[in-house]
Amino acid sequence: MRAIIGTWKMSFDGVQETFGMLKTGAPAGEAVVRAVSRVEDEPAFHSVGYGGLPGKDGRVTLDAAFMDGRALRMGGVMSAENIRNPIQAAYRLCGRKTNCLLAGRGAEEFALQEGLAMRDMRTPESVKRWREAVAAQAEKELEAYRGHDTVCVLALDESGNMAAGTSTSGLFMKEPGRVGDTPIIGSGFYCDARFGAAAATGLGEDIMRGCLSYETVARMRNGESPQQACQHALDALAERKRELGEDAGSISLIALSPRGEFGAATTLPVFPFAAGNEETAALYIVETRDKTGFRRAEPEDLAAVD
Ligand code: ASP
Repeated sequence: MRAIIGTWKMSFDGVQETFGMLKTGAPAGEAVVRAVSRVEDEPAFHSVGYGGLPGKDGRVTLDAAFMDGRALRMGGVMSAENIRNPIQAAYRLCGRKTNCLLAGRGAEEFALQEGLAMRDMRTPESVKRWREAVAAQAEKELEAYRGHDTVCVLALDESGNMAAGTSTSGLFMKEPGRVGDTPIIGSGFYCDARFGAAAATGLGEDIMRGCLSYETVARMRNGESPQQACQHALDALAERKRELGEDAGSISLIALSPRGEFGAATTLPVFPFAAGNEETAALYIVETRDKTGFRRAEPEDLAAVD
């Protein structure tokens, strides 16, 4: 069985392409890196890679991670500037026994040493968005922390190996040095080829409080399906937050089993994702109000969502 799943509509083209690669025998890791790189390279997706969301200081700093589910190893970069494809740096760091998660200048120097492409990740649009937010802040209308999304991709290859990849520019107008869940193992992603893989998108500060990706894979280890595991992990965190007098926050989760079954859950009204596990790759949605699972997306479902 070969399968792949990615967050948001923005992952669809990459998921479709790499589902084809998996069917012709490509390893899960290659498929994940290719699918995530495609999103990083596209400036129209303004929450990942080139043209990503700037922080308060106007800089675009990126977080990304990669995990190999058979080796149980990860690599990641965080708060990194000017690396064209942060996922490729994360992929190359995976496999190192030590120094596999690098921040800031260390990550950038590693990417340079590896001969990875470097570029100014700001675009005229991202600079404009930042200037407008700064002006709005002066008028006390700042709506920072909105419109953030992470690309997460999970894959299963024909050898039975699994891989996970994540990449984001993090929250819009974040403080310098702020890092969310995306490069943090167990929170933004987790992958053990024996039990499954999971990844999260949404407010990183909340996702980290529930170690949501590890929690989802642990539930699959205990016999839950990917769909049950996502729903139960998210419900448990939301319940705990309610006990603390907080609302559920905005979080979405995806998961994939070693049998190629996939699942998703969200606290948003609607969360779209792309997946393929038999003959075709397609877009699906999961809705908060429908706890029974996901369904194929209709064009009207997708009109108002990222
Ligand atoms: N999880 C990301 C972060 O907190 C943002 C997102 O997925 O929307 O940095």
